[in-house]
This record gives sequence, structure tokens and C-alpha cells, in this order.
Amino acid sequence: MKIVCVGRNYVAHARELGNEVPSDPVIFIKPATALSSPDTPFSIPSFSNEIHYECELVLRIAKPVRQLKKEETLSCIDAITAGIDFTARDLQQQLKEKGLPWEKAKAFDGAAVVGTWMPIDQFPNKKDIHFCLYKNRVIVQQASTAQMIFDFETLLSHISMYFTLEHGDLVFTGTPAGVGPVEPGDVLEGFVEDDSAFELSIL
Ligand code: ZN
Repeated sequence: MKIVCVGRNYVAHARELGNEVPSDPVIFIKPATALSSPDTPFSIPSFSNEIHYECELVLRIAKPVRQLKKEETLSCIDAITAGIDFTARDLQQQLKEKGLPWEKAKAFDGAAVVGTWMPIDQFPNKKDIHFCLYKNRVIVQQASTAQMIFDFETLLSHISMYFTLEHGDLVFTGTPAGVGPVEPGDVLEGFVEDDSAFELSIL
């Protein structure tokens, strides 16, 4: 099982980190060992002084697929939720400056928190699904899939051109603006539309 992640998929988020808006999806992968449940509090790793939350919609792949045409893509997803793509921003910045891969900053143990799955059929209009994140009961991120640079169909078609997607693989679809640091004692709560997807404590 693997976790495929999309970077810079919302214009305002790309700009807040000083990145260019991409002309092709930015893709990276986290291993299965990065997966974590919100029932387990997130422990800030010792190698970073600046762990950021990135709330994202997450898709679950229902069957093995490769080289999908756009019109085939939505039939391979069976569920959606919100999750957190935890990022060691200080380490990522150092790696980016040296032109090195990001994995140590993004694919570490526990860096992919995934909420409660909701059947994808609950959301007939995939092009306007709202989601948001609260930190300590204050809203810090909110967006709709309407604001994505690359929609679900484009992402899945693009990803499956390079990587076979297998049953149970997950796709993190990018974070909107408003990312920021977490500290011990913080509580993160994610919603898809009005449904709570997760509540996560930071240790
Ligand atoms: Zn992300």
C-alpha cells in the first residue's frame, strides 16, 4: 500500500510558500509506514522544530488501475475523507534549497493522518466539495475542490500514467492556503462538508 500526494494544487497555498503555480501536477509518495490514525496522538519528531499541518482531501482507491483515461478515473475511488499531510517545514526548506528530495520532511513515520472514510457517492458534485480544518477550535484552513488547480480526474489520470494504483492506495489531493505550525497540546479537527472527519491531539 502506498500514499500518493499532490503538492501545490491550490494557487493561494503555492504562493504562501513562495512557489510557482505548477503547469503539471507535483507528485510525491509516502510509504505505508507514514499512515496514522487520528486515534493515535501525533508526536512531534525530534528532527524538526517546525512541523506544519496541511489539511487535504484524501481519496481511497478501490481497484487496481493504470494509465486511466480521465472519464474512467472516478469509478476507481470508493471513499473520501480529510487528512493531514504533516510536513517538517524547516527540513523541507533545507532540502529544497539544496535541490534534494523531500522524503525526510514529508514521508516520516506518522506523517499521513487519515480520517473516517465517507462513501464517495455521498458527494455527487466532486467539483465542489468543501472541507476545512480547525486548530484549537479556530478555523485555519477552508476550501472547495472548485479551487483546485488540477481536479480529481486530472490528478488520477496523471498519477496512474506513472504509478499503478492498487486497491487500498490513498491519494492526498493537496492543501489550500493557511498551513501553519503545531505545538504540543494543540487539537486539530477536520471536516468534509458538515461531517467531522477527524480530531487529532498533538503530543
Ligand atoms: Zn500537502
